[in-house]
Amino acid sequence: MTFDRSPVPVFRFAPSPNGLLHAGHAFSAHLNFEAARGLEGRFLLRMEDIDQIRCTSDLEAQMVEDLQWLGLSWEMPVLRQSERFDVYRQALKKLDELGVLYRGYLSRGDIRKFVADFEVDGAVWPRDPDGAPIYPGDARVLSAQELEKRRAGDGPYSLRLNMKAALELIEDRQPLSWWEGKSECLTPESWLEGTRIVADPSVWGDVVLARKDTPTSYHLSVVVDDAAQGVSDVIRGKDLEPATSVHRLLQELLGLPEPRYRHHRLLLDEDGEKLSKSRASLSLKALREAGTSVDQLY
Ligand code: GLU
Repeated sequence: MTFDRSPVPVFRFAPSPNGLLHAGHAFSAHLNFEAARGLEGRFLLRMEDIDQIRCTSDLEAQMVEDLQWLGLSWEMPVLRQSERFDVYRQALKKLDELGVLYRGYLSRGDIRKFVADFEVDGAVWPRDPDGAPIYPGDARVLSAQELEKRRAGDGPYSLRLNMKAALELIEDRQPLSWWEGKSECLTPESWLEGTRIVADPSVWGDVVLARKDTPTSYHLSVVVDDAAQGVSDVIRGKDLEPATSVHRLLQELLGLPEPRYRHHRLLLDEDGEKLSKSRASLSLKALREAGTSVDQLY
């Protein structure tokens, strides 16, 4: 994969409108915006609103107001993932045709119970980088009759990537890797300085790529949309760095180009915890209303 496919670098900020933006988002958005400006590139805004229950148009409007307050501007129209479910269905179909997708019938409760039973004597069931238990597989947890019943029924299921089959399919392209930029702040001189990092998607196990009622997931839509929007450079927080392994795998499976990645440091609160949308008092809205100016944010 070469990197000169995009003569004009394309950057994006891709928030999920399921809460209020905080200073960490402002930092990320600024890095992308300033990089685009410094490199005479393009800057896009994408609303990652596939969770139609938690993402609302009020929160989206609030985000736009916050980003305008930060002094950012972006190309129109804003891409909304909730309007692209058909595109994600196509990608799922392709993965299904490759034979790397399967229906998993275990609920979160089933998995919780399985893990609690497994760990009762001190054994440790493996977790993914987000701390969630690796999917144990239906046959390990459900009886043959129960599995048959769920398969025949109308209940919920998730569509999961068969990690083992997926890795076998790209065996000739191993080791999978991504390009990581050296610096989070881009100048024309530092833009192409980076190293390749070896990806290890197996640490995620059989990740969810869709659910019965939602034909996509964060991992699937982010790679489909970065490609669809011609994004050449992804600058995002270090918390998403482990996910890049899954993104590279999906790009290989779907035949999508790989962007350059940069994972920036995370801003911490006064207790050393990373900022989270659940702390409304630290939201940009609250800080603005309390008289904080943009250059005091970080
Ligand atoms: N929507 C993701 C978030 O708000 C960011 C996705 C990305 O930058 O890749 O955390």
